[in-house]
Amino acid sequence: MRRKIAILGATGSIGTSTLDLVERSPERFEVVAVTAATNVEALAEIARRTNARLAVIADESRSQELAELLVGTGCRAAAGKEALLDAAGGEADLVIAAIVGCAGLPPVMCAVETGKTVALANKEALVTAGALMMDAAIAHGATLLPVDSEHNAIFQCLAGSRAEDVSKLILTASGGPFRTASIDEINAATPAEAVAHPNWSMGAKISVDSATMMNKGLELIEAHYLFGLPSERIDILVHPQSVIHSMVEYVDGSVLAQLGSPDMRIPISYALAWPERLETPAERLDLAAIARLDFEAPDLTRFPALRLARGALIEGGAAPNVLNAANEIAVASFLEGRIRFTEIADIVREALESSNFSAPRSIDEVMEIDRATRQRVAASMKASCH
Ligand code: NAD
Ligand code: MG
Repeated sequence: MRRKIAILGATGSIGTSTLDLVERSPERFEVVAVTAATNVEALAEIARRTNARLAVIADESRSQELAELLVGTGCRAAAGKEALLDAAGGEADLVIAAIVGCAGLPPVMCAVETGKTVALANKEALVTAGALMMDAAIAHGATLLPVDSEHNAIFQCLAGSRAEDVSKLILTASGGPFRTASIDEINAATPAEAVAHPNWSMGAKISVDSATMMNKGLELIEAHYLFGLPSERIDILVHPQSVIHSMVEYVDGSVLAQLGSPDMRIPISYALAWPERLETPAERLDLAAIARLDFEAPDLTRFPALRLARGALIEGGAAPNVLNAANEIAVASFLEGRIRFTEIADIVREALESSNFSAPRSIDEVMEIDRATRQRVAASMKASCH
């Protein structure tokens, strides 16, 4: 039987890679629902191509346009946040969570609460609601499969092992485009330089996060929730070639690693086919040609975001929520040319220092902390611009 899949964030980088795999295996997958933020043309084209039955545009003002583009296709057009929940909680067995940011959390939770298998790329959802989501997955019998390449690697390296046999997780990091840059160069970094990742082609937000290394900080928090290890048992190791996607160290001293070319279709395919595997067109590793693999410790002075994220994980409560919300708005401001690159971490630090929310007990509280933090950060950025 074909697996019915819903792709949340179908027009993005992960959404596009997922579609590429799914369309190569029509005998295994059937796309039932697709969603996007604002790009109705791209969404309608995907819906037509895949014969999806539901297409949802998050931006309600584009509702009519989407409906017109889908006339005569048999695909229902819908718009708005509630409709995103219909896509996530509807007829799909497998939901690909590939929306960027905390905005993707409500549909992810809806998929979890309807007991789906969720292939999770949307790391901000786990960072902001990790405990709530893991509890809900157990309560509703949902399966969470990590798509983020590091977590997917760890998931593969953990296969079949007992939790008590794991001593630590080693998250690898490429170091991003500024790995060897001086503090002055980092200070002067432009959006174009920041999104030019050396190894991976990704959406704008995660590319900036890779440049500040906040991405690895978010991934540290993500790993904590997914695999249940405390901060001190999750290491970060810079590995510029992005060949080893992460590792697990066991109590006997064995270290297992997952390797592959830097192509998100590999981890996505594992989540799509798990516990089986899918053939992918990803380039095969030629280790003789690569010849060497390098490793170095992360530099917390040039990349303060890493320290902030680890601090937020250790502090717990609402700190990861504040970290994420402040980072989202700071990254958006940087991409719009309104702040300097190094101000991203400054804004996140200030937001963490000045917030006093208690730990969220529901998704509504998570969304409220997110909204309030964004509002406060936006107000203080506006004030400091004068
Ligand atoms: P992207 O910007 O390319 O795509 C984001 C998708 O989400 C688009 O379809 C967009 O229309 C939709 N979207 C954006 N804002 C929305 C909103 N407010 N409401 C509803 N839909 C919205 O991003 P991406 O690079 O594909 O990343 C998606 C997620 O996967 C992120 O959380 C990212 O951290 C994670 N991830 C991405 C990669 C990668 O290689 N791109 C790797 C690991 C993890
Ligand atoms: Mg990653």
